[in-house]
Amino acid sequence: MGNQFVGRGVNVVKKILAIHTGGTISMSQNAQGEVVPNDQNPIAQDATILAGRVQLITDEMFNLPSPHMTPVQMLQIKQRILKAEAQGIDGVVITHGTDTLEETAYFLDLTLPNTIPVVVTGAMRSSNEVGSDGLYNFQSAIEVAAADASRDNGVMVVMNDEIHTARYVTKTHTTNVATFRTPTFGPIGLVTKGHPMYFQKLIQQTTCDIDHVIDGVYLLKAYAGMDASLFDALATDQTRGLVIEGVGAGNLPPATLPGIQRLLDRQIPIVLVSRCYNGVAEDIYDYPGGGIGLCKMGLLLCQGLNGQKARIKLLVGLSAGLTGSALADFLRTAVS
Ligand code: ASP
Repeated sequence: MGNQFVGRGVNVVKKILAIHTGGTISMSQNAQGEVVPNDQNPIAQDATILAGRVQLITDEMFNLPSPHMTPVQMLQIKQRILKAEAQGIDGVVITHGTDTLEETAYFLDLTLPNTIPVVVTGAMRSSNEVGSDGLYNFQSAIEVAAADASRDNGVMVVMNDEIHTARYVTKTHTTNVATFRTPTFGPIGLVTKGHPMYFQKLIQQTTCDIDHVIDGVYLLKAYAGMDASLFDALATDQTRGLVIEGVGAGNLPPATLPGIQRLLDRQIPIVLVSRCYNGVAEDIYDYPGGGIGLCKMGLLLCQGLNGQKARIKLLVGLSAGLTGSALADFLRTAVS
């Protein structure tokens, strides 16, 4: 086959950019059983991966554990992808630590124009552990990025033979290889014997180009007995926005309300999501702290996203200069 990609249904040579950023997929276990970063990324050095089937261009952009990843690096990855697109690349695979993978993936989903396939992957077992999933996930991600059927799906996360949309996927287990799940909606497709099969399509795509990222966008999780103290700690000039993971369908303990009002009085946008694993935040309940009153106060619902994704969306919207109803429209996810 020579330099041909031979995934089923694909018969043209595809140029795929592999951007490596670090994470367990690039690490190894040492003699003490500790998982540690390597100077040389074993995945990036592996010349056998789909050898002769795709033209793989490698960029070792970062070598970071993903808790070290920030929106600044996410923006650099986005700019690197745009540059590669302008140079005629057919698809992009990003390897990333799994802890914050969903945030980088969603940042890219929101800020890239959704033209070529962009796939993010990682590993739960480092490169020299028995049953290491890194090389396999990397190979699957390349197969997905190279397939014509993968266009127009937004940014995708490929792990453990499943294809998830970056918008809804989340890490659900600390160590299991089946950690990435899409609550409520499920994966959009599968990878089987090296080729992607799709079963769902996103009904709507929101993108927003940005050239810088702001600081001061925070995330708080509600709990029984919560009061205003954490909200009052955020009543500073540095705070630009806040996401609250409310309880249940999007409700808060009443003692939080005075602190929330003080933040709203400072014109700080506050987004409400649910801390529940499944379902969406809604304005259903009318009691002190209920969703109806919170929306009347001016909290903005961001339906279907978890707290960390809603924070990325708020950060991107604010970085783009959106305010008022434009920001609320941008944050709305569901079509109704
Ligand atoms: N702690 C690692 C990281 O996110 C976990 C992983 O990559 O799976 O970098």
